[in-house]
Amino acid sequence: MADVKGRVAVLSGDGIGPEVMEATLQVAEAVENSHGFKLEWKKGLVGGAGIDAKGKALPEETLELCKSSTAVLFGSVGGPKWESLPPNEQPERAALLPLRKIFGLYANLRPAVLYPELAGCSPLRPERVAGGFDVLVVRELTGGLYFGQPKETVKKGAGERAVDTMAYETHEIERVTEVAFRAAAGRKKKVTLVDKANVLESSLLWRKTVKALAARHPGIALDFIYVDNAAMQLVRDPGRFDVLLCENLFGDILSDEAAAVAGSLGMLPSASLGQGTFGLYEPAGGSAPDIAGKGIANPIAQILSLALMLEMSFGQPTAAGAIRSAVAGVIRDGWRTADIAAPGEKSRSTREIAGEIARRVASGSGKR
Ligand code: NAD
Repeated sequence: MADVKGRVAVLSGDGIGPEVMEATLQVAEAVENSHGFKLEWKKGLVGGAGIDAKGKALPEETLELCKSSTAVLFGSVGGPKWESLPPNEQPERAALLPLRKIFGLYANLRPAVLYPELAGCSPLRPERVAGGFDVLVVRELTGGLYFGQPKETVKKGAGERAVDTMAYETHEIERVTEVAFRAAAGRKKKVTLVDKANVLESSLLWRKTVKALAARHPGIALDFIYVDNAAMQLVRDPGRFDVLLCENLFGDILSDEAAAVAGSLGMLPSASLGQGTFGLYEPAGGSAPDIAGKGIANPIAQILSLALMLEMSFGQPTAAGAIRSAVAGVIRDGWRTADIAAPGEKSRSTREIAGEIARRVASGSGKR
């Protein structure tokens, strides 16, 4: 048995969360069996489910569970039932934001992959995405305009004056840049820093810091692009990028743009990382209340979040690769949930898709 140990906090949350999580745990079991390791999976309540059962979106016992775990596999939180609560008690704000803060999750990884077979799901013209693409947005998550001080609105003359501050320190840039370079090493070995160095002081510090760190990663190509041009190139030719490294605001916008051009939210995982191996892994989409409970949600975003977790928190790239290959194979062979099915194409349930992915992982046809 491989020497892999650790506990995973399994927080399914609301809406489609429990359905896609159940499906994902089936794949987890298959990959454990086929790769000879066993993790401890412990479930906790979060989001609306936490509010209903314990009065809090992040109940104490859930937080303790996360603190005693190597990683958190997160579903999604929120839904109409809790929308009338005060903003600070809303599931996303009261569960995800504290988790990011408590665990110092400063790097957000959002791979946006379009499989060639799903080129029709992209809103881009077929000739632009015929071969598919695979872009990774690495977003700084705890600094910049969202947190910089001063941040205030004050009276001024007959009106008001509002200020947000985009501030970065060298060490904040360095740690997320390291994540981007390490990620690029396992991909096409190219990092593109997205900035606005022609007008922003903070962008100049980003360029200087990233250039200095690049010297430690001679195998990785580094280039630079202004954020306005990056937004344009993502819709003209997303395949030209490998890893896009972004400060917080630019990454927030571009990661959603990359997700949009990739076609379906149901396919895209994400990872939020801090120091060490701890990470929180979740689908890029939300709780999809419009389809919750119908058994038709796409489980692939959650399943690929599992793959990211095995790779980044448990050092299991082979197991992660087996899951990704099984997903790619299932897509290649025409298995589709409703969100990615072409008009008239047969669609499968959440369970059917996950069952087929698990079967391929177990039989080794998911292995590279
Ligand atoms: P959403 O991502 O939940 O849904 C947007 C659209 O994408 C819907 O049509 C939905 O059916 C579809 N979709 C999303 N994931 C899918 C999947 N796996 N399979 C098939 N289709 C999928 O966004 P929304 O509708 O704006 O938000 C719904 C709720 O989710 C809100 O309460 C919001 O606050 C919450 N939310 C939570 C998170 C999170 O937990 N991290 C993130 C975003 C939104």
